[in-house]
Amino acid sequence: MPLYRDSGVVLRTHKLGEADRIITVLTRGRGKIRAVAKGVRRTKSKFGARLEPGMHVDLQCYEGRNLDTVTQAESLDPWGDALARDYSRWTAASAILETADRLTEEHEPALQQYLLLAGALRTLAHEGHASELVLDAYLLRALAIAGWAPSFHDCAQCGDEGPHRAFHVASGGVLCRLCRVPGSSSPAPETLGLLAALLAGDWPTADASIERHRREGSGLTAAFLQWHLERGVLSLRHVDRTRPDHHQPQRTG
Ligand SMILES: [Zn+2]
Repeated sequence: MPLYRDSGVVLRTHKLGEADRIITVLTRGRGKIRAVAKGVRRTKSKFGARLEPGMHVDLQCYEGRNLDTVTQAESLDPWGDALARDYSRWTAASAILETADRLTEEHEPALQQYLLLAGALRTLAHEGHASELVLDAYLLRALAIAGWAPSFHDCAQCGDEGPHRAFHVASGGVLCRLCRVPGSSSPAPETLGLLAALLAGDWPTADASIERHRREGSGLTAAFLQWHLERGVLSLRHVDRTRPDHHQPQRTG
């Protein structure tokens, strides 16, 4: 069986039998993989504690037909401990890990998503930014890598130069007066400025924001994520259903 070595972040784990665990890992080189870690739930396991969600590890695995098998795991970064000690950091990390899982497919290389994920967890563990800001910056940038970059300044539909006030999640962000659709909201200009700063990695602007705008920005970010993840799942179902005749015009209803 082929052996490989890769670094990765553990996204989630679940129990297998009495002593084993299946781990889902977003790796640098191979995208998302699933592997069996044998005996890790025994107290004497050499690498059990390194294979918890959020851990950054260097892995050696045997490639299997369905599941790979972990043979070695070395810790690359002690950020897992720092995250586990702080409740608000840990809840942000959990949301980051779940989103990384949802936005990636097994065995499809996702280097940009891996780098963004590792960077977000490191920032959360070691730097002084508020947890909710690190989370929202991660979510906006992960959506952008997935091809769904929201627009917070120029019109999301026609590109007309901003700033614009109307905001509509399903349209991709802010809208000019001509493109504005029913159901648009009007967030505070400071909130849109905060979201643009988070997307661009402008931390001085983000750190200077106040609680009210952070809360509003988190709501809009969550709405963006929900919209795209649900649409993603729905579109996958649609592909499956229409695969035999996908050249035919699509029926609706
Ligand atoms: Zn427009």
